[in-house]
Amino acid sequence: MASFRPATLDAAVITIAVAVIYAFSDFYDLPPKLFQLGTDYAEWDLDDAIFVIFFMSIGFAIFSYRRVKELSIEMKARRVAELEAKKLARHDPLTGLPNRRFFVETLGEVLLTTNSDSRSAVLMLDLDGFKSINDAYGHAVGDHALIEFAQRISAVMRAGAVFVRIGGDEFAVIVPNIKSLDDLTALARRIVTAVAEPILIGQISTSVGVGIGIAIAPSDGMNPEIMVQRADRALYRAKAEGRSCIRFFEPDMDAHVERRVAIETELRAAVAAKTIVPYYQPLVAFEGRRVVGFEALARWKSDKFGWVSPDLFIKVAEEIGIISELGDQLLRQACLDARAWPPELTLAFNISAVQLRDPTIGLRVLAILAETGFSPRRLELEITETALVDNIKIAQAVTGQLRQAGVRIALDDFGTGYATLSQLLSLKLDRIKIDRSFVDRLGKDKESTTIVRAVLGLASGFNLETTAEGIENDEQLASLRADGCLEGQGYLFGKAVPANEVINVLAKLKSNLRVVA
Ligand code: C2E
Ligand code: CA
Ligand code: CA
Repeated sequence: MASFRPATLDAAVITIAVAVIYAFSDFYDLPPKLFQLGTDYAEWDLDDAIFVIFFMSIGFAIFSYRRVKELSIEMKARRVAELEAKKLARHDPLTGLPNRRFFVETLGEVLLTTNSDSRSAVLMLDLDGFKSINDAYGHAVGDHALIEFAQRISAVMRAGAVFVRIGGDEFAVIVPNIKSLDDLTALARRIVTAVAEPILIGQISTSVGVGIGIAIAPSDGMNPEIMVQRADRALYRAKAEGRSCIRFFEPDMDAHVERRVAIETELRAAVAAKTIVPYYQPLVAFEGRRVVGFEALARWKSDKFGWVSPDLFIKVAEEIGIISELGDQLLRQACLDARAWPPELTLAFNISAVQLRDPTIGLRVLAILAETGFSPRRLELEITETALVDNIKIAQAVTGQLRQAGVRIALDDFGTGYATLSQLLSLKLDRIKIDRSFVDRLGKDKESTTIVRAVLGLASGFNLETTAEGIENDEQLASLRADGCLEGQGYLFGKAVPANEVINVLAKLKSNLRVVA
């Protein structure tokens, strides 16, 4: 279509040119020759040939001129389209901010002009608690919130800084030409304050935080990839330390993250190979030091890291989404092991907060009991106070379902969370486990003794059984007994042992009993 007009124009120009030449030249006898088929070219005069060449040259010149013009129009259109595409490819359609691609390119350019006299920085930002807005209110509301946060952060940006959206709820800032670290800290603080302002969603006012990790060039690196990696590591530390933390990169973060990544890999392999196993710590009735059951505690000896604490690997398993698989594996093994114990002994098993977030946990526990043939009446699930408070609705449903099947529920680490009395009572617990930290301070400070005494009184008032955790010496035992505590566990009675040593523990505690008696 577009080439139609110039082509017609060409034709007109050529026709006029031919007409003019025809009218004024003495080559009037040539055109008839041109159109006479079968003309003998030998009859052509030299001037005829010159005319043809001349005529063709003009045509060619006009054609070339038109073609060049057409091409330049085409090139211009293409350049505009390219610029548009380039802009789009470097632009986040939701927030209108530049995107990750622009960020990487700009960072490369900024680092080229960075030196010790003119330092620059990368800030990586990640919203805290944004996921729950998305989960609770849907993606449309989540998108709206992201736009709002992008605007708030833009409003506190420092002159010359480049603010981009990396993706999801992650943003980044490039700050060229830093005057001082205070300058950066001030910017990071302004961002935290801007984000922390409550946000109104429908009728509900809620708030999120933002973690910020900062890397500085040239001291932390001069290559865009390294700078981003280091700012990310600082961000990782900031997120681990709580809501709205700001952290500068430090060299030990590299080692820390590398170790963490290696642990994740090893842990996945260990779960796949089922090499994490339950050990068993005796639960003892003080009267006669009678073993009443065992608590299963996960133990992992990695080829690479040696013994890894369950406090660490349970958390990692939760974060990488394999806790259900690991939990099921451990429970299955514990039920099989416990079937070999004297029938009056119970099995206590830990359920973490993340496991409790899964509404199918109750059904899965019951399925494993059925599969292994272990009686639900011999199983006691330990759920931490924080886990219960965080998931009170699911906790009520799950504990109700399990108690109906005969499984007992114990509240673990009591005293470390913020459960209200009514929350606790709504759960219909069977037992409270007094946290080790209180037992540890028994006799050392008055407050612990008072708290332990109050918990014991509360428990007996509501007909709950109690277990004191972490009893290490006879003084602690005597103090607990004096206040009416009947059961406990701790190194005084024995550490967790592998399944095949349970029998020895039973025998040893019995012989102790004889000694004591
Ligand atoms: P927890 O449930 O409070 O387990 C008691 C912890 O105290 C165990 O640490 C145990 O070895 C330790 N302990 C027992 N007696 C004493 C004592 O007298 N003195 C001292 N200092 N410590 C004592 P462990 O085995 O390292 O487990 C730590 C935590 O890891 C557990 O705390 C539990 O929350 C979690 N955990 C362990 N196994 C599992 C599991 O299979 N599943 C889940 N979800 N969590 C588990
Ligand atoms: Ca426990
Ligand atoms: Ca505990």
